[in-house]
Amino acid sequence: MMTAPPALSDDERAAILDAVREFTAAELAPHALERDEREIFPRDTLRRAGELGLGGICVREDVGGAGLARIDAAAIYEALAEGDPSLAAYISIHNMVAGIIDVYGTEEQRTQWLPRLVSLEEVSSYCLTEPGAGSDAASLSTTAVADADGYVLTGVKQFISAAGESAVYVVMARTGDATSGARGISAFLVPGDAPGLSFGPNEHKMGWRAQPTRQVMLDGVRVPASALVGEEGQGFRIAMAALDGGRLGIAACSIGGAQWAMDRTVRYVQERTAFGEALAEKQSVVFSLADMATDLHAARALVQGAARALDARADDAAVQCAMAKRFATDAGFRVANDALQLHGGYGYLREFGLEKVVRDLRVHQILEGTNEIMRVIVGRELLRRGRMAR
Ligand SMILES: Cc1cc2nc3c(=O)[nH]c(=O)nc-3n(C[C@H](O)[C@H](O)[C@H](O)COP(=O)(O)OP(=O)(O)OC[C@H]3O[C@@H](n4cnc5c(N)ncnc54)[C@H](O)[C@@H]3O)c2cc1C
Repeated sequence: MMTAPPALSDDERAAILDAVREFTAAELAPHALERDEREIFPRDTLRRAGELGLGGICVREDVGGAGLARIDAAAIYEALAEGDPSLAAYISIHNMVAGIIDVYGTEEQRTQWLPRLVSLEEVSSYCLTEPGAGSDAASLSTTAVADADGYVLTGVKQFISAAGESAVYVVMARTGDATSGARGISAFLVPGDAPGLSFGPNEHKMGWRAQPTRQVMLDGVRVPASALVGEEGQGFRIAMAALDGGRLGIAACSIGGAQWAMDRTVRYVQERTAFGEALAEKQSVVFSLADMATDLHAARALVQGAARALDARADDAAVQCAMAKRFATDAGFRVANDALQLHGGYGYLREFGLEKVVRDLRVHQILEGTNEIMRVIVGRELLRRGRMAR
């Protein structure tokens, strides 16, 4: 098992974050409202993100990855989300796929796919959810039947980010019998142009409108045996391990989006007057801001702690990631919504950007495991251990 890279020094991290913030200000923030309104998935912008190393943030350097630790990746997602949570979150999903290939893939799979994924020349999709298997993903019914030439995949995947655009799909499919549960699931790399692969229409969504979400249909898709990632039966474990990092990415995007809304609100309440004084003179307003800042600070601390635990391969890393995801995505949504409220009617107008952040952050409480499933993970571990480690 490869070891995690050390976290950057403060100076190194500051230099990278400066470059990411410059990119965010120049490329993500300016067109965020237009991308949302017109449902634009900006492949050129993503390629420019790739030039900064953002397509393979934790991927090893031999294939062009940036080779960074999770704690640095979290700071990067946060900075990106200050410009556009929808695109930042897609970059996080793409990194999750690149991470699967880097960690579990063969050298052949790594060199075949990673150089074009880390450069964001090509995008990728993670295919776990099905119409009949969301939270209960281990009950998935897509099959991968082995024959002399490899495997034949048949089934439907639901809510797949970047489907229809991706060069490669990591597809979790059942190689065991119908009763095999999580142990009967394997992971496959399916090229976007594979015969038998097709896509549903782009779903019309409340938020995350700068990235497409489609059904993926696999109708007898043939892949060679070399498309298997890891070993047969390891797919569910690979999918869940990848989600630990994915959940930190989504959590960090919630913090970044909420921080953007918070910063605007701190300025706004000092400019806007009501009843003869600035809103900032009212104690209830200041108390709101203080709670918002405290929640974001706590969320960031949880994400950083979980990132360290994941890099250190701590026993309770998955639980810490679940705690961080649940807390940060709830806090992020609440803070963004409170920021909207403090803007009064202006918060409800599209041009102010706050309603977009609220819409974008809402789905973070639902995907990569709903926040109820995060509670299931934490609660189960709590009952098993008796108390959480300190
Ligand atoms: C915009 C978007 C993008 C997505 N992108 C991807 C992607 O790229 N790849 C991918 O594989 N998936 C993706 N998903 C799917 C996402 O991960 C699922 O929607 C999510 O896991 C929930 O599954 P479900 O929608 O089937 O809800 P369900 O599992 O049907 O859950 C419905 C409700 O029941 C609750 N519930 C379920 N089980 C329990 C339980 N045991 N205890 C308490 N409450 C429970 C849930 O928390 C939820 O509130 C995406 C979803 C969206 C909306």
